[in-house]
Formats: sequence, structure tokens, C-alpha cells
Amino acid sequence: MILTKSNRRETPRWQRELARAITDPAELLRELDLDLALLSPARAASAQFSLRVPRGFVARMRKGDPADPLLRQVLPLADELAPAPGFVADPVADRAAQVAPGVLHKYCGRALLIATGACAVHCRYCFRREYPYADNRAGSDEWRAALAYVTGDTSVREVILSGGDPLSLSDRRLGALLAALDRIPHLERVRIHSRQPIVLPERIDRNFLELLARTRLRAVLVVHANHPQEIDETVRAALERLARAGITLLNQSVLLRGVNDSAATLARLSEALFAARVLPYYLHLLDRVRGAAHYEVNESEASAIMAQLLARAPGYLVPRLVREQPGHLAKVPVGSVPVEVRRPLGFSPSEEVGIRV
Ligand SMILES: *Cc1c(COP(=O)(O)O)cnc(C)c1O
Ligand code: SF4
Repeated sequence: MILTKSNRRETPRWQRELARAITDPAELLRELDLDLALLSPARAASAQFSLRVPRGFVARMRKGDPADPLLRQVLPLADELAPAPGFVADPVADRAAQVAPGVLHKYCGRALLIATGACAVHCRYCFRREYPYADNRAGSDEWRAALAYVTGDTSVREVILSGGDPLSLSDRRLGALLAALDRIPHLERVRIHSRQPIVLPERIDRNFLELLARTRLRAVLVVHANHPQEIDETVRAALERLARAGITLLNQSVLLRGVNDSAATLARLSEALFAARVLPYYLHLLDRVRGAAHYEVNESEASAIMAQLLARAPGYLVPRLVREQPGHLAKVPVGSVPVEVRRPLGFSPSEEVGIRV
């Protein structure tokens, strides 16, 4: 198609999809043929943190199944309102790590920019569900203070665009930010942390790929998928476009009870990601944010799941299990080399792995 001036100005398809996202719990329940008894708790919990889910993501959910692993990530539940000791507003002490408005610099060589507070989807377990974005965004004043910080610290080699979801920014704003980063001589890499290639694959359109092609910085895109059912044909096609453009693709997941808390599911997720050109990077233990206690998988269960995963998948398809701990120099690896990975006597590699844990 030849782009004329007039259709260049049209709202891009991804923004129209974003605007059509489901935000009313009643509509979500109707769409999925679910019991309306779920409505009143959903309304109560969404008063704290609103429901938001793109229609394309809802289309990957099973109808009539309240335990669907994709639905479980987005449907507000009464569980969120139950008090849970130890679950707090800012579990990773991000506010303390701010070095400039919207800039977190915790780790050697990389600085993280809170580019926007907006997300295409609201994940109920999100550790930033209570983050005061309005006061802490880097985007106000065209990123002047954030860019000044990065320019002034020559030890920073990589800027991570995070949020919220940085791909919620329009191409015009994102392009301006990338161009400004491009001009900082000591920067080598730009990393984008985004769930949009998964929940809104329309975002990976020609304009966006053109933006990435313009930067001299090596680009890394870290997507966020938790369950193999999230990766359908539309997502695979979007990731394929990115891979063809030479972007390094990684995935981070959160280990979530009732969503992906089994080695079999995680192995299928890794296979689905790899088929879509993405390598698993991190598997995060849940950050203990208020309202998310019902998703928690404790450390010993998590280590047991990892032992089983190690025994059934190639090493490059096993993500690193980590926990974010305030005051550390990196994400902290969880568990050690588990004894369960030792080969039992008489074991044949073609057997289905049944490991005692
Ligand atoms: C997670 C995180 C990073 C990235 O850490 P990597 O180990 O490089 O993926 C950087 N800065 C902050 C503040 C983070 O929370
Ligand atoms: S996409 Fe990421 S930042 Fe946005 S709600 Fe989900 S987990 Fe939180």
C-alpha cells in the first residue's frame, strides 16, 4: 500500500485496538460466558486497580472457564481485597532508587526509565499497581531531566525503557526519545520492556519497525508472557517481524499460582517462545505487592518446579529464577543446583521425566 499524506495521519490500528480494550467487568464476563456471580467482587476489586484487557487477548481465553490461565491474570477478584501481612504498596523499594524524575539506577551500567504509566493490559499481580506514576514519570518536560542524568553518567551503557509499558507511547514520542538517546555517545544499547507484543501484537507495525531501524543503538526487546496460550499466530507473526529486523528478543515471566506454577506449563511456554524466536530470560518470584498474595508460589515450591524444568528442557530454554530484593546489585538468583537433577540409576533419556521433589 502506498502511504498518502491523509492515511498517514489516520489513527494507527494498534491505537484503535487499545481504545477498544475491555474495561467493564460485566462485558468481560459476558464475552466469556461466565457466571455473573463474579461481577460484584470484580467491581469491588477493580475500584482499587481498574480492569483493562485488549480484545485480542480475551479471544485467546477459553469460554466458560473461570480458571483460564489468561483470565486469571486480568480478572479482578475478591482475594485482592483480603489483608495479607507482608504485602505492601512498593515491594521493591523503587521510590528509593530514583536518581532523577522517572529514572531508576540500581544496577551497574544500566539505567531504567519509567517512560509512561500506561499499560495496554492491567495485570492483577503487577508490582507497580500502586506506583505513583503521576509524580514519577520521566516523560514530562520531554525527558529533559532523565536525559541529563544519563548524559552525565558515562558508566551507563544501556537504557531500559520501562513503565508502565513504553510501547503505549505514540511513535512520535517514542521516536523523539530514541533519537535523543541515540545522541548520547557512551550509550551502546537500548532495551524495551514491553508486554504489548503479547497482548497487542498490532503494536509491532511498520512505523514502529522503522523507528527501531533508525537507531544506532543495539536494540533488545524483553516481552512478558506467562503461559503458552498467550502466544497465538498474531503474536508469532509480530515477533517474527521483530526478529527479522535484527532485534534481540527475550522473555520475562512471573511465577503465578494457578497460571504457570508447573514445570510442564513452563516447558511448553519456553517451546512456544522459542518457536516465536524468543529466548526465556527471567522467571520472577512474585513481588509482594498488596492485592497479589493469592498468586504467590513460595521459594521452595518454586525451586522444586525449576528442578523439574531443568530435567526436561534444554539449558537455553530454562529461564533464571530470580527475586527482586531491595539493596542488591542485581536480581537475586533463587535456589542452587538441585540434587533432583541427578540422573537416577537406570534412567533412559527418552522416558517421561518423573522427578521426586
Ligand atoms: C530489573 C531491573 C533492571 C534490569 O536488570 P537486568 O538484570 O539487567 O535485566 C535494571 N534496573 C532496574 C531498576 C531493575 O529493576
Ligand atoms: S504490563 Fe507490566 S507494568 Fe503493565 S500491568 Fe502488566 S505487569 Fe504491570
